[in-house]
Amino acid sequence: MQRSILDSKKDPLGAMLLDYWNGREQAFVTVDSTLVEMSKMSGRIMFRQGDQSPIEHQALALCRGKILDVGAGSGCHSLYLQEQGQEVAALDISPGCIEVMEKRQVGQRLHNSLFNLENQKYDTLLMLMNGLGICGTLDGLNLFFQYIKPLLREGGQVLADSTDLESLYGREVIIPEKDGYYGETTFVMGYKDMKGDPFEWLYIDYVTLTYYAAFHGWQCDLIMEDGTGKYLVRIH
Ligand code: SAH
Repeated sequence: MQRSILDSKKDPLGAMLLDYWNGREQAFVTVDSTLVEMSKMSGRIMFRQGDQSPIEHQALALCRGKILDVGAGSGCHSLYLQEQGQEVAALDISPGCIEVMEKRQVGQRLHNSLFNLENQKYDTLLMLMNGLGICGTLDGLNLFFQYIKPLLREGGQVLADSTDLESLYGREVIIPEKDGYYGETTFVMGYKDMKGDPFEWLYIDYVTLTYYAAFHGWQCDLIMEDGTGKYLVRIH
């Protein structure tokens, strides 16, 4: 899990999104992974309509109260919620993402890491685009469940998506490759001649998630699956 705000010289995603915003329509970051076949992330995808996929549409429909869009990226979900008249703040560690969201007129922006927030309370934490990934590892997931307790108001909820890589790639492909939990990976992003620091990212299957959640006193409801291993969960 990343706790500190990124340096703008090591913020390929933010730099790419700023270029995209300024008209470079083909902009994308390269993504090297120790595990998944993900070679790039494009500005076009990051700037998608917030409610484009069924999972995202459903997650946005379930948002209520004071909402924190965790790892807000280009702000596509914050903008959607803002337009619906909801109270939403967009949180990101990337200075470029925060700048893009300012240009797009996302009203409330927080430049920080989820794992540094203090003295704030929300009804909904929204975490989309494999949003649980920011926990980084299973150890990070344990910490996440502790961190969110003081961040949520009574009756509060987390709406998050993740992907079971075993469903996506098949057990025989994914398991033998890896020591430890099969959904833990390390990413390195690049844009033009800028390279970010490596960071950990977690893909967690639903059953393991429910097990970890229950250990910390949280309940998980499986809201929706998309048939490729990706699912939406409500944690409360
Ligand atoms: N939710 C957006 C963006 C997903 S990409 C979307 O659906 O399009 C993940 C985002 O999380 C990136 O913008 C990254 O900078 C941010 N991020 C990563 N770790 C974070 C942390 N610890 N706290 C807050 N934001 C984080």
